[in-house]
Amino acid sequence: MTTKFVKINEVSSGQSTSALQQAGEILRRGGLVVFPTETVYGLGGDGTNADSARAIYAAKGRPADNPLIIHIAFPEDAEKYTETSDLYFRLAERFMPGPLTVILTAKPVIPPEVRAGLDTVAVRCPSHPVAHALICAAGVPIAAPSANLSGKPSPTCAAHVKDDMDGRVDMIIDGGDSEVGLESTIVKMEGDGSLTLLRPGAVTLDDLLTVTDRVTVADAVTGQLAPGEIVLSPGMKYKHYAPDAPFYLLDGTDEEIFSFLKTKEGRIAVLTYEEDLDAWRDGLPDKDFYAFGRRNNRVEQAHLLFHLLREIDKRGYTAIYAPLPAKDGIGLALYNRMIRAAAHQIIKL
Ligand code: AMP
Ligand code: MG
Repeated sequence: MTTKFVKINEVSSGQSTSALQQAGEILRRGGLVVFPTETVYGLGGDGTNADSARAIYAAKGRPADNPLIIHIAFPEDAEKYTETSDLYFRLAERFMPGPLTVILTAKPVIPPEVRAGLDTVAVRCPSHPVAHALICAAGVPIAAPSANLSGKPSPTCAAHVKDDMDGRVDMIIDGGDSEVGLESTIVKMEGDGSLTLLRPGAVTLDDLLTVTDRVTVADAVTGQLAPGEIVLSPGMKYKHYAPDAPFYLLDGTDEEIFSFLKTKEGRIAVLTYEEDLDAWRDGLPDKDFYAFGRRNNRVEQAHLLFHLLREIDKRGYTAIYAPLPAKDGIGLALYNRMIRAAAHQIIKL
């Protein structure tokens, strides 16, 4: 299939209105449109159409047992597709539109293919103006996972979408760089009125705790970790967001990391905090150091992670190294993505 590319800078311009109308038509007739959001790019289809869901799984190469998120224009639209609750609206009031996905009991209008057969469905109301305008133009909720091939890092700019999706979708809308750079926070609304944090993101655990004190963090968020051990190839099942080159996380002080890197041969790329860049480049001129934001700025690091992994991976390194992040604030989301990208290969120094 031939993929049409459009760039939208300003949603209210005449050019964008006609592009969005065309995209809305594609979605209504069962086609696929990749669109920008504030988290990462989404691979969208009609959330009420089982065939669209099948087409999404096929384009992404994703196993059909991993459900999709439906994107809505306004928080109250969740009423049409799910059983909402007072807690849902309290979360919506505080975090929507924005990078929070809530899992609720689905109404039958959402086909089982979208939900991978579960009786729940994931709902999100994105804040990106292009995403909002597209959902309005489509007139249907947009089911979308991240617009990467299954297993690859999520795309945070249109060039990375093109690498994975050219020829697999009807249209790609370029709306610039994703602001957050990591996928949404996912919480599940439990029957007893508590929340389970299934995937951390830019809406942090502390943010959620301002709305309810009943939040449990699912074991899988930080799971499978044996600190002090190198876990080699624990199976593709645990490998997500992964570059092709082996990726290792280094758990140690600056000095320990520097000494460790000194012993490594081959073409080595290192994600490096800005404070260390000059000294490490001077000290180890045979390695390539990539700026990974300031040490204490986890928001910057989140914004850069997937972008850097994809750019670095185009350059054929033997190995990629990065410091293991702390788990506070959005650091928990970074940690969660980085241990998966590294297939849990953590080297304790
Ligand atoms: P992606 O944003 O591409 O990572 O895909 C959507 C994510 O939402 C996946 O990690 C799914 O496992 C998760 N998800 C979607 N619907 C549900 C649901 N009903 N229950 C649990 N997780 C879900
Ligand atoms: Mg994904």
